[in-house]
Amino acid sequence: MDGEGASKRVRCVALLSGGLDSTLAVKLMKDMGVDVKALAIKTPFCDFDCGKGCGFRVKEVADALGVELKTVYLGEEYIEMLKNPKHGYGSGMNPCIDCRAMMYRIAKEYMEECNADFIVTGEVLNQRPMSQNMRALRIIERESNLEGKVLRPLSAKQLKPTEAELKGLIKRDMLLDIKGRSRKVQMGLARQLGLDAPNAAGGCLLTDRQFARRVKDLLEHLPNPTLNDVELLKVGRHFRLSRDAKLVVGRNKDENEIIQSLIQDGDIMLEAKDVKGPKALLRCSNKDKVDGSIVSLAASIVCRYSDADGSCIVIVSDDVTIKEIKSEPLASDMLESYRI
Ligand code: SF4
Repeated sequence: MDGEGASKRVRCVALLSGGLDSTLAVKLMKDMGVDVKALAIKTPFCDFDCGKGCGFRVKEVADALGVELKTVYLGEEYIEMLKNPKHGYGSGMNPCIDCRAMMYRIAKEYMEECNADFIVTGEVLNQRPMSQNMRALRIIERESNLEGKVLRPLSAKQLKPTEAELKGLIKRDMLLDIKGRSRKVQMGLARQLGLDAPNAAGGCLLTDRQFARRVKDLLEHLPNPTLNDVELLKVGRHFRLSRDAKLVVGRNKDENEIIQSLIQDGDIMLEAKDVKGPKALLRCSNKDKVDGSIVSLAASIVCRYSDADGSCIVIVSDDVTIKEIKSEPLASDMLESYRI
C-alpha cells in the first residue's frame, strides 16, 4: 500500500450484511491489505430465517473472512424514523434512503471510534431502485456527513474517486466497475476469490407488500408503536376490527407460542374450548372503546379457524377475568373484509 499511510496500516469500517456484495467488498479490501472492521446493523425488520437467530449468518461470514465484527441492533429510533421518513418509502414501506443514512451515521461513529480512514459498503450502482442510484447515494452521503468518505469497491470506477483513492490509500485501478441488477459478475468473482457464494443475507420485511400493509395499518392506527407491536406484525393472520382493535390469529403451534410470549397488559387472549384451534390476541389501543361486540367478533373469527364443526365455545381472558362466549364461525366474505 503506498501513500501517506506508510507508517499506519490503512483501516476501514465495512458495512457487512453477510450477503454476496458486502462479502465481496470486504474480501477485496482484505486482499488489498486493508485492516477491515466489519459492522453489521440490524433493523427490527430484518428477516433472518436461518433458524439460528438474527445475526448468526453474518457472524459466520465475518469469521470466514477473518475480520472483527461489531453488530448494532436498531430499535425504537428506527420505528421513529419509519413513521415519517424524510425521503419517503419505496415500493413497500421501505424507507431506504433514510435507513441507509441512519446506518451510515452509525458507521461514521464507529469509524471515528476505531480511527479508521474510510467506510466501505457492498453497494452496486443501480442495483436497487431506491437507494443505489447515483442521486440516492449522494443524498445518503450528504445526510450522514460522509461525502467522499464512502468507498464502494464493486462500483468504484463508475463513481467519483473517493478521498481514500485521492490520498493514495487505495489504488483505483484495483477497484471494480460493476453496475446494474444482475449478480452474474459478482457470482463469478466469488468463485474466483474462493468464496462460498453467499446466499442473500436475509431480506428486509419492509419491502414485502403484504407485510408493508400491516406496517401501514399499524402506523395509521397507533401513533407510537413499540418493538412489541412490530414483533407481533411478523406472526399470524391480522384483522383490523375497529379503529382501536386488532386481532392476531396464530397459524401454527410456533406462532401460537410467539403470540403468547408477546402478551402485554391490556391484551385479550381468545382460544376455542374443547376443540383444536389457534391462539388469538386482541390488542386495543383504547380499551374504553372496545365493547362486547368487538370481543364477540374476535371470538367468531377464532371459531372460524378452529376445528369446530359449526359453533363453539371461545375462552376469552384478560389480565383479571376469564369468560366463555358461544360463537358462530364468521362467514368467509365478512372475514376477508377485516383482513389486513
Ligand atoms: S431494504 Fe430495508 S434494510 Fe435495506 S435499505 Fe431499504 S429499508 Fe433499509
